[in-house]
Amino acid sequence: MAIEQEPAQRRSPLAITVVGAGILGLWQALTLARAGHAVRLVERSPTPFADGASRYAGAMLAPGCESEADPEIAKLGARGLALWRATYPHLVNAGSLVVAAPRDSAEAARFARDTRPPQTLDADGLAALEPDLAGRFARAFYFPDEAHMTTPDALAFLLDAVRMAGATVELGAAWTSPSASDVVVDCRGMAAAGVLPMLRGVRGERLLIRTAEISLSRPVRLLHPRHPLYVVPWGDGRFLVGATVIESEDTGAITVRSALELLGAAYALHPAFGEAEIIDTGAGIRPAFPDNLPHAEIRDRGKLIFVNGAYRHGFLLAPVLAEAVAGWLANQTLHELLVTSEPMAHHPGSV
Ligand SMILES: Cc1cc2nc3c(=O)[nH]c(=O)nc-3n(C[C@H](O)[C@H](O)[C@H](O)COP(=O)(O)OP(=O)(O)OC[C@H]3O[C@@H](n4cnc5c(N)ncnc54)[C@H](O)[C@@H]3O)c2cc1C
Repeated sequence: MAIEQEPAQRRSPLAITVVGAGILGLWQALTLARAGHAVRLVERSPTPFADGASRYAGAMLAPGCESEADPEIAKLGARGLALWRATYPHLVNAGSLVVAAPRDSAEAARFARDTRPPQTLDADGLAALEPDLAGRFARAFYFPDEAHMTTPDALAFLLDAVRMAGATVELGAAWTSPSASDVVVDCRGMAAAGVLPMLRGVRGERLLIRTAEISLSRPVRLLHPRHPLYVVPWGDGRFLVGATVIESEDTGAITVRSALELLGAAYALHPAFGEAEIIDTGAGIRPAFPDNLPHAEIRDRGKLIFVNGAYRHGFLLAPVLAEAVAGWLANQTLHELLVTSEPMAHHPGSV
């Protein structure tokens, strides 16, 4: 008679509280619930996504373009893209385009050196991909393997998916102290700054505009030494125009200066944007660590895990951070985004 062997690394399902339903908390709750844990997602805002940075994001999954900031982003982001593709059926897999005005050719050369774009298009190649940009730029960089989404739709989909995976969701419930859970995964964003002293906020302003005069199929970035811009098509004639990167934690509304810069750049991309309606504006504070890379930091013998600091890459890297935490809880797998000053010999799921 065959005897079933217990897997050597078998762990009990854990009771896990995930705090904060921003993009990091949503991916943690979804991944941990799907891994079989009993997950409770706690969000202080009564209306989902009303607070925090995530609702303001351009939600581009652009590991190639963003490798400009850090080559590490390209490798980690490729995994993030794969996890999004396996999870979110409405992802738009149309790549990204990057253009520059002739006077900014030095900026284009620097960008190409830093990111090594997979394809450089001439004017005809650009027109074939984006007919409404025909004749406007002599050259474009094309990253065909990138993707984007409509931010509110993606956040709502993930919240539904968390519930469908068996997690409970508590809205309007501000988490204050350790709970009865085996593990707390703290994804409070800037609200965790008091206990994460290296965390800082980086303000990002963006506008939402609407016009039927121009159509784009994919995000387009306009390089500029001082006012770089991206325009992300959201469908139904809507375009997200972003985003400033300001070392400030000011949560106030978008400033006139920033609006002028962003809208001026959008107009330079295509004058048809001059006739667009402005339908929303806003500013989010991106939580960031000094290296501008996110980390999952394990404390209290694994009972408390801070997941934070996603900076400009919260959508891109949230699934990777979730996989890192799930892997550690399952078998103490070390991931490069995992930080711990404690020995890895014990964790709360050990049997
Ligand atoms: C303008 C802009 C454009 C961006 N574009 C992109 C992009 O194109 N691609 C990309 O990958 N990233 C982008 N980002 C970055 C991304 O948005 C952030 O990295 C991400 O939103 C951070 O998510 P978070 O879950 O850490 O924090 P948050 O979204 O701030 O979520 C934290 C949540 O915790 C809740 N909370 C706080 N305290 C408590 C408590 N005590 N109890 C319960 N809940 C609590 C808050 O209410 C909030 O909902 C952009 C950001 C901005 C601002």
